[in-house]
Amino acid sequence: MLIFRTPGELQQWALAQRARNVKVGLVPTMGYLHEGHLSLIAEARKRADAVVVSIFVNPVQFGPNEDFEKYPRDEARDLARCEEAGATAVFLPTPAVMYAPDASVFVVEERLGQGLCGARRPGHFRGVCTVVAKLFNLALPDVAVFGQKDYQQAAIIKRMVRDLNFPIEIVVAPIVRETDGLAKSSRNVYLSAEERQNALGLSRALALAAEEVAKGPCESQALRQKMVRLLEQSALRVDYVELVDAEQLTPVAEAVPGTVALIAAFCGKTRLIDNRIL
Ligand code: AMP
Repeated sequence: MLIFRTPGELQQWALAQRARNVKVGLVPTMGYLHEGHLSLIAEARKRADAVVVSIFVNPVQFGPNEDFEKYPRDEARDLARCEEAGATAVFLPTPAVMYAPDASVFVVEERLGQGLCGARRPGHFRGVCTVVAKLFNLALPDVAVFGQKDYQQAAIIKRMVRDLNFPIEIVVAPIVRETDGLAKSSRNVYLSAEERQNALGLSRALALAAEEVAKGPCESQALRQKMVRLLEQSALRVDYVELVDAEQLTPVAEAVPGTVALIAAFCGKTRLIDNRIL
């Protein structure tokens, strides 16, 4: 498995692949890899000849009071997992090699990022779009795989690819969960035993929404309130609960099959997100 630590090394390799008609798949991550990430690598392997995994905790997408400094990192374990998963190359840059001290060009999506996590984490998707655009220009992938776990992020990346004409296919892979339903996340490592139990409130509230909608269309406000109540009973502090249109991410008055339910909630100090297409 190849290991690149600078943008130049990755881009040179990518140009050589392109010259040889090797189809490249990219899986962008922030590391501390779990089975969710590994499922994206497996998906990329099905669709490409060579797979690049990037591992970069991107400072530009973290707010001043967020967990950039203490975000979990384990390079040795991540490299072993990538190798086992059959990655061709891993890109492990530092912030210093990714951003010039006077960097002044950023990518901003202006519609889909207005609500949900975009409203709660100002500047977050500007950081995400900028780093993903840079990774696209470095790895020159034919296909890039993202997780539905970050539903809004995947929608924004698809929009960026459409609106800026990146010649890249975007694939969104399903959410990988623990057996009890909790969505896998690098941040789950922050949870105490009690919080880990409370965190089940997210997937349970989404299951409740799916059950309700399976019975017939639901008035969104009433359904949201039921979900909020379930979250609060699990000692979670709700950041948002929304029922939105799957493409435009705008709130719907009535939840129907195909509506997306999204939750962000604090479990102790840890902010968790989850979603489900109803
Ligand atoms: P992260 O390292 O958290 O930035 O995530 C990197 C990629 O993995 C993103 O496309 C995420 O949506 C995806 N991902 C994270 N958790 C999961 C999961 N439980 N199931 C599927 N994909 C995931």
